[in-house]
Amino acid sequence: AHLGRIDTVEPQVQAYMTRTAEAALAEAQRVDAKVAAGEAIGPLEGIPMALKDNLCTDGIKTTCSSKMLHNFVPPYDATVVKKLKEAGAPLLGKLNMDEFAMGSSTENSHFFPTKNPWDLNCVPGGSSGGAAAAVAAGEAVFSLGSDTGGSIRQPAAFCGVVGMKPTYGAVSRYGLVAFASSLDQIGPFTRDVRDCALVMNAIAGHDPLDSTSAPVAYPDYTALLGQSIKGWKIGVPKEYMGEGLEPGVAAVIDKALQVFCDLGAEVQECTLPHTEYALPVYYLIAPAEASSNLARYDGVRYGYRAEGADDIVEMFKKTRAEGFGAEVKRRIMLGTYALSSGYYDAYYLKAQKVRTLIKQDFDQAFERFDLILSPTSPTVAFPFGSRTDNPLAMYLSDVCTLSANLAGIPGLSINGGFAGGMPVGLQLMGKAFDEPRLLQAAYAFE
Ligand code: GLN
Repeated sequence: AHLGRIDTVEPQVQAYMTRTAEAALAEAQRVDAKVAAGEAIGPLEGIPMALKDNLCTDGIKTTCSSKMLHNFVPPYDATVVKKLKEAGAPLLGKLNMDEFAMGSSTENSHFFPTKNPWDLNCVPGGSSGGAAAAVAAGEAVFSLGSDTGGSIRQPAAFCGVVGMKPTYGAVSRYGLVAFASSLDQIGPFTRDVRDCALVMNAIAGHDPLDSTSAPVAYPDYTALLGQSIKGWKIGVPKEYMGEGLEPGVAAVIDKALQVFCDLGAEVQECTLPHTEYALPVYYLIAPAEASSNLARYDGVRYGYRAEGADDIVEMFKKTRAEGFGAEVKRRIMLGTYALSSGYYDAYYLKAQKVRTLIKQDFDQAFERFDLILSPTSPTVAFPFGSRTDNPLAMYLSDVCTLSANLAGIPGLSINGGFAGGMPVGLQLMGKAFDEPRLLQAAYAFE
C-alpha cells in the first residue's frame, strides 16, 4: 500500500532521495510469512519506515542532500538503523533534507526541494523536510530525522505530524552524519503520539559507540499514555509569545491552553529570561562545530572530487568550492571565524557561557512547572522562495526550538490546530529524560 501511495504522490511531494522498494517488499513478505505461520511479531515488525538521508545505511546511498556526498555509500548502519532493522521495520527509502541539515525549508537541498503536502506552494520546513512530508503524505508510517536546532520539530509543525527531539544522549548519534555534535539528536516523525512512543522504545538506549550516549535506565515510553495530567503545572514562556508570532498561531495556542485547563492542568505564564540570546548563541556554536565536522570533506576520504587540479591543495579547494552549497559555505566561514585565535574568547567561549545561562533558565522553570508549552514556530509554513535571499529571516523560524538543543532537554511538537488551512505546531518541553511525561501530556491533548 505504501509503495503504491509513494508512486501516486511522489511526483508532487518529492520527499524521497533514494527508494528501496524491492528490499522493503522482501522484508514485508518475510513478516507476512511469519504472521501466516501464526508466529508473534514485534510492535514495529512489518511497519514501513523511511530515513533522513544523513543516517548511514549499509550499502544504500547517504547523500545528506549534498553534491559532496552524491555518490557516498556507507559501509555500515547507524545504530538507530541497526535497531530498527532488528525490530523488522522495512525501509522504503532515504529522505530529502537541507544540505548537511543546514536550513529550515529543505530549499537548501542540492537536488530538489520537497513540497508541503498541505499546500504544494509552501515549504515543508527543514531541515528534515522530506521526513516530515513523507509521514504527512502517507508515504511512510514513520520516519527518523535529526534535530540540531529544530529540524525535527519545525517541519513536524509545518506538516501537521508528531515530531520529537529526545534528550541529548538518549538516542545514539553513531552513524548520523555530524553537523553540530553537541546539539544533534535523532528522533521520530509519526502520525500520532502513541506511534512516537513506540518508535522511541526501539531507538533509545545506551550505545558504547557514541561517547555522549547516556548510560541510564531507559523507560517504556508508552507506560504513561492514557494517564491523567490533572494538577500539572504548565508554564508558557512569555518570551515565546511576543513579537513575530502570527495571530493565527497565537489563536491556536490560546485554544490549546484551554484544552489543557479542561484536562485539569494549571496554566501559568513563566519566564526564560535569556531566550533572546538563543539565536545568536546557536549561530555561533552550531557553525563552529560544523566548520570542524565538515573539514573531513576533502575529496580524498568521501564523495565528490573536483577534476583538473594541479596539486593536492588545489584539489581540496576546488572540491570544497564545487561540492558545498552556499548555506554550508556560510556556516563554515562563520564557524572558522568564531574559532580563530583572537576571536575565540569573544565569540565561541562567550556563547558557551550564555548557553549555560539558557540551560539554567530551564532548570529554574522546571522547579515550578511540569512542562513548558509554546508554539513550535512563530509562523505556519511559508511559500517557496520567500526567505531564501534573507538568511536571518530563515533563521528566525527556529527561535522557539533552538533553546531545547542548547539546554539538551527533550522537545515534542504535535499538531495544535490550523491557521488559514495550514497546520500549527504545539511544542512541549520537559526536563532531561522526561520524555514519558511529555508523551503523556501530548497523548492527553491529542
Ligand atoms: N534551521 C536550523 C539550522 O539551519 C536548525 C537545523 C537543524 O536542526 N538541523 O541550523
